Amino acid sequence: MGQQISRRSFLKGGLAAAAGVAASGVPGSRALAGPDERKQLATLIDISKCIGCGECVAACSETNADKHPNPQKPFPKMYPPRAKVSDWSDKQDVDDRLTPYNWLFIQHAGVEKDGEEIELTIPRRCMHCVNPPCVKLCPWGAAKQFENGISRIDPEICLGGSKCNKVCPWDIPQRQTGVGLYLDILPNFAGNGVMFKCDRCYDRIADDDLPACIEACPEDVQTIGPRDEIIRKAHSLAKEINGHVYGETENGGTNTIYVSPVPFVDINNAIEKGKGKPDFRKARDRMADANNLAAAVVIAPLAGLAAAARKAYNLAKKRERSSVQ
Ligand code: SF4
Ligand code: SF4
Ligand code: SF4
Repeated sequence: MGQQISRRSFLKGGLAAAAGVAASGVPGSRALAGPDERKQLATLIDISKCIGCGECVAACSETNADKHPNPQKPFPKMYPPRAKVSDWSDKQDVDDRLTPYNWLFIQHAGVEKDGEEIELTIPRRCMHCVNPPCVKLCPWGAAKQFENGISRIDPEICLGGSKCNKVCPWDIPQRQTGVGLYLDILPNFAGNGVMFKCDRCYDRIADDDLPACIEACPEDVQTIGPRDEIIRKAHSLAKEINGHVYGETENGGTNTIYVSPVPFVDINNAIEKGKGKPDFRKARDRMADANNLAAAVVIAPLAGLAAAARKAYNLAKKRERSSVQ
């Protein structure tokens, strides 16, 4: 079957070059265009193969446990009080939606196919947009996109202001209060925590390992590879099963491409939606919006400076702590 990118060929290092994780450059240069699309890695999710076993969810949780928040309580009182507390620390087992502790969940859709009711199970997480508004519009430079297309929120820089959530078409990033830099610098006034989401196991990819959810899946539901190859494969699979593709153009294009045996409008009608439960609507390109584009141009250099200042602050704090010990 054509040029299939299996987990074996990935592990052989064929994609090592594309998988470099150098951060995307100089502040100011990132405002208008993302990294070269040809270097971006995408994943293909074949919905028809998923059996809903949840192995991927468990693997994500276990592998990324060290990255999950460990909040200090009681939380400082916030002014204005509209900066609400968001606390998932006593609900870490919730697995039917995205939370700061659950970066991947399985969505269920009862749909009709060829006159028969079928149940689809669909892994959902960050789409890793080609030109991600969460990165371009973060005023503090806390969100970054790597050359390989992965977007990541740096927990040492994020203040939890939720801008990334507001500009994400799927409301992916989730906030935890009582953790992060705001506790040191503006405990009563800043964003009230840190935002968390799938970072597509950027550290594993840097070591030529597969993301944990892909490695754990017993059905090989996900395939990873250069975006253009993944798009070609998605269309060939869709043709084979008379199916449908989602993610190629949504929000200007994403690095997560779903192929489904039924139209996505049917899936969207059937899934439970709400906070932490992304939909499957057609998502317009948020970075094509003139206001967002203008904001990105202004934000980029300021965010670069803010991020550099926060990194320096964190470094100084670490040095101070180690000199006391
Ligand atoms: S491990 Fe694979 S088959 Fe199981 S729920 Fe996740 S994607 Fe579906
Ligand atoms: S899906 Fe949302 S959080 Fe993920 S990269 Fe796109 S804008 Fe950012
Ligand atoms: S890529 Fe990594 S962080 Fe993202 S859902 Fe899969 S296991 Fe979790």
